[in-house]
Amino acid sequence: MAVLPIRITGEAVLHSVAEEVTEFDDSLRQLVDDMFETMKEAPGVGLAAPQVGVGLRLFVYNWTDDEGVLWRGVAINPEVWLSPTPTGEADEDDESEGCLSLPGERFPLRRAEHAILRAVDLDQKRFEIVAEGWLARIFQHENDHLDGVLYVDRLEHDYTKAVAKVIKKKGWGVPGQTWLPGEDHLED
Ligand code: ZN
Repeated sequence: MAVLPIRITGEAVLHSVAEEVTEFDDSLRQLVDDMFETMKEAPGVGLAAPQVGVGLRLFVYNWTDDEGVLWRGVAINPEVWLSPTPTGEADEDDESEGCLSLPGERFPLRRAEHAILRAVDLDQKRFEIVAEGWLARIFQHENDHLDGVLYVDRLEHDYTKAVAKVIKKKGWGVPGQTWLPGEDHLED
């Protein structure tokens, strides 16, 4: 297993629609292993293939809920159904989200409270997870990555300026930037 460099916003693969997985071979298994390792090292609760430079429709997740249940797996060629997104302003304390492709930053974002994830695993076995709360948020966030959408693309107007400022200050928003979990230390 290997820790892979994580692409930072500005890299084309993060802003492009990923392709369906059609080859369920050893190299796909290797990619998934490496993505789990990279997510653990980062650390993160989810990681999508475009974030490690691979334009394929899959993501991994690893999150323990309030009741101590571990939700961990890989979703390949996923589909996500959502309950309506609540209206009103996002709460800075309870709804702030981060992304390994904008490392060290968090901004509040409203998300649907409920999500149904349907996908296949490495053995092409279909599965379905009915998620709520933060797990539903993770699925929405990771599935968005497969359509070239970052959470900052969805922020309320007031926060878009702050994001642009951060991206400018850190020199992001241009191709070719990565960070390596375990080696690069985040500034904040
Ligand atoms: Zn992300």
